[in-house]
Amino acid sequence: MSLSDLLVDTCIIGGGAAGAYAAYRLHQLNHTVAIVERGPHLGGHTVTYRDPILTNNQPIDYGVTWLQNLPVIRDAFAHYNVPLIKEKIDYAIDMFDFTTGKPLTPLPANETTAALDRYSTLLDQHPYLATGFEDLPDPVPDDLVAPFSHIMDKYHLGGLLDTFSSWLSGLGEWPDYPTLYVMKYVGTDYLAGRLQLGWVRPKSHDASEMEQELRQSQTLLFNSSVVQVDARDCTVDRVVVDVASTVDETRRPIITITRRRRIRAKTLLFAAPPLPDNLEVLGLDERERALFRQFKDPWFYTALIRVDGFPDSTFLENHGKDHPFHRPRLPAVLAFRPTDVSTIVRVTVGSTTRGLSEAEVEDCIRAGVDSVRRRLGGGNVSDPEILAVRDHSPYTLTVSGAAIAAGFYWQLSALQGHRRTYYTGATFDTHHMPQVWVVTDQVLQRHLLPALRGLRG
Ligand SMILES: Cc1cc2nc3c(=O)[nH]c(=O)nc-3n(C[C@H](O)[C@H](O)[C@H](O)COP(=O)(O)OP(=O)(O)OC[C@H]3O[C@@H](n4cnc5c(N)ncnc54)[C@H](O)[C@@H]3O)c2cc1C
Repeated sequence: MSLSDLLVDTCIIGGGAAGAYAAYRLHQLNHTVAIVERGPHLGGHTVTYRDPILTNNQPIDYGVTWLQNLPVIRDAFAHYNVPLIKEKIDYAIDMFDFTTGKPLTPLPANETTAALDRYSTLLDQHPYLATGFEDLPDPVPDDLVAPFSHIMDKYHLGGLLDTFSSWLSGLGEWPDYPTLYVMKYVGTDYLAGRLQLGWVRPKSHDASEMEQELRQSQTLLFNSSVVQVDARDCTVDRVVVDVASTVDETRRPIITITRRRRIRAKTLLFAAPPLPDNLEVLGLDERERALFRQFKDPWFYTALIRVDGFPDSTFLENHGKDHPFHRPRLPAVLAFRPTDVSTIVRVTVGSTTRGLSEAEVEDCIRAGVDSVRRRLGGGNVSDPEILAVRDHSPYTLTVSGAAIAAGFYWQLSALQGHRRTYYTGATFDTHHMPQVWVVTDQVLQRHLLPALRGLRG
């Protein structure tokens, strides 16, 4: 063993919501961990902008912002002494077609309420959707495998159209998705947050505050990627993870060097998006590769812009007026949303057919601002100054209804522990932080912790 080898119970690959939370839980249970994170910070989709002049260093979140007010959230934030406050997302919404500038007439509120009630009753019929996919019944109910557009027809859920095309806009072509994914995303807790309980966020309005606290107690390798993994199949030695980290030397002029480290771990927890490209360094076997290559994912970007003349406290949303499910023509801006600073606006941009360069995202934003200008009849909308752009791709990883019916998720669950590797993250539940944390706990309790207990030394 070389001097710089790290000896840990678990090596976590990916320090986003799932990886960081797993590290916190394992640390609480007296297990040692090392996180290998590709980016420069923990938190994945949690991104916070600060500028000493423009915002007087006031933080502006343009990734994760509002959290469901659930025990898993309250407990973790309390553990790190990050105070939370309650908030409602009660902005006005202006839905219009950014291509034509034509507004959509909102559905009558009573139609939406009735459809949400019917949807809620349907959700109650599938209690195994609460956490992860492991407890899906065999056979998977036909309704969960069918495209959600069919379920909207079957159960007269047309009243959901405005609401779901707003809530699900970032997910991709949600009407075509197997209903399973829609029901995971708009699950019972999410509905309760939207309709009754409201949300919480750090009192500081800085979603990265938790990440700063987590940094204190973990072994973290930032700007790092796994180069090779050995001994996954060997039951006596530890798994050996070779990592390359780029590091800025603290002398002038700063030079960036690559440092190699070796982590020897009893178990591996993969908490980055499980796409073949990302996983290849693990040395996949055919069983693993056959599953992971089935995932499809849309592209999703966020940005912050400085712009004058946008209406106050209003979400401006792009809905395709002539599309049966109001899907906008993509790639394009999905929505403009206000922030705590009146002239700074959050932007989401979607693409379902290809990835976009940063310049293309910026073109979409400028085209979106033009649409708002047209919608407001000119007015005083200034040209946007683009302050930050963030690529959140890959986002929602889905497989076909046929694959789900054929047992995709049971096969995926059976991979937990295969070759001493465990998996967690939004792909194993859905894209909300509390659900990601709960499923991570489930993976630890059901799979990883029993394995650690069974290993000596
Ligand atoms: C724009 C946006 C806004 C959101 N807002 C909210 C919100 O307000 N409330 C809410 O509850 N949820 C929100 N979500 C959803 C929530 O952020 C996600 O569900 C959650 O972050 C998923 O966690 P994860 O750990 O699976 O993935 P991620 O958070 O994406 O973490 C994956 C991590 O792995 C790293 N990584 C990737 N590949 C590698 C590799 N090869 N080696 C090492 N590291 C790697 C990435 O850099 C990343 O840090 C939002 C998501 C987005 C995109």
